[in-house]
Amino acid sequence: MTSSKIPDPPESQPRILRPRRAAPADAVRPTRAEINLEALRRNLRVVQRHAGGAKVWAVLKADGYGHGAPAVARTLERAGADGFCVALLEEGIELREAGITAPILVMGGYYNQAHEEVLARKLVPVVCDMGQVEGFARMVKGGSVPGPVDVHLKIDTGMARLGVTLAELPAFADRLAQVPEVRVTALMTHLACADAATPDELAAQMLRFDEATAQLARRGIRPSVRHAANSAALLRNEARLDAVRPGIAMFGVAPAASDAAAASELTLVMRVRTEIVSLRSVASGTPVGYGALWRAARDSVIATIPMGYADGLSRHLTNRGHVLVRGRRAPIVGAVSMDMSMIDVTDVPGVTLRDEAVVLGAQEGPLGRELITPDELAAHSGSIAWEILTSISRRVPRFYREP
Ligand SMILES: *Cc1c(COP(=O)(O)O)cnc(C)c1O
Repeated sequence: MTSSKIPDPPESQPRILRPRRAAPADAVRPTRAEINLEALRRNLRVVQRHAGGAKVWAVLKADGYGHGAPAVARTLERAGADGFCVALLEEGIELREAGITAPILVMGGYYNQAHEEVLARKLVPVVCDMGQVEGFARMVKGGSVPGPVDVHLKIDTGMARLGVTLAELPAFADRLAQVPEVRVTALMTHLACADAATPDELAAQMLRFDEATAQLARRGIRPSVRHAANSAALLRNEARLDAVRPGIAMFGVAPAASDAAAASELTLVMRVRTEIVSLRSVASGTPVGYGALWRAARDSVIATIPMGYADGLSRHLTNRGHVLVRGRRAPIVGAVSMDMSMIDVTDVPGVTLRDEAVVLGAQEGPLGRELITPDELAAHSGSIAWEILTSISRRVPRFYREP
């Protein structure tokens, strides 16, 4: 495929997602997410070691798991990541606009009428059904792009989400053979239970993936690349094949059942901090917050922090979990509101206005050193680390820092 024949990107792109992140200079409020780029590079090295020679395609969907995909991609590309995976076409375009030249795989398989844009941006499409194959074939037949179009084919081996099932595969392969305009260069599948206590379901899915590979080979479709591993599979040294697709591990979170050594080597990349903006002494019995869901059981000191559920501090943390102040844990009290939350700092000697309050990550202070992990927040809010990180909303500006 020669680049000169690829159509130019369309002039206006009303569809394109443009996250409007506040620039650091816009940050009036002290609430911000600090993204440690050195930790990101260190996690890449851990992942590369576990990949055992397989290519590392870092998954940067959902704005790089909330860390800001362009900055994360630039850092990882320079540090030697082999490629990137995103869920949406819009996310792939955002990375190209940020100057990323490494391969970018669009995994969601949803192209609507935008097939041409996928190729114009030199993104690699994943196809999950015959309609998508035909969408790309039509463009080649219509002369708008040169053929064949290279795609990755997704096989459903046990997730029941996207992809061709083993039952459909023989008929699918027969039809694919009739479409020379599209060439399958890789096979992929996604693992549903890679972080389960035992690897049985993971192994069963890989057996089905092997079976699918063999079925396609019998019909003359022999892509040279296969990939399956997410962070959980990779960090238990399973399913590594030719390329791996780690997401959460890049950001310093080891899924359950990860190799203990790998888990201890990963470093949390994001730290979310704010400052105490109001402090008050309240008498025993005083209610705090909407609905009076908490009442002081003793004379107490209550601090207000300017971070609430609209910033990604889940309302499920009402009366649960902690915030770090002066290196010590202070319990969240009362209902988390949209823009603010209250914490009980009665047991934090020396607390003052403007003290740093850490919602996620580590803090060292005069009273000690403490850490709040995404897993801890997830446990308190009935969620998972993935949702915690991707929920930090766009009104929390990201500050990129080397340590
Ligand atoms: C999100 C995703 C990944 C990465 O998963 P992690 O658990 O974050 O490592 C890999 N592959 C696909 C298809 C995904 O959707």
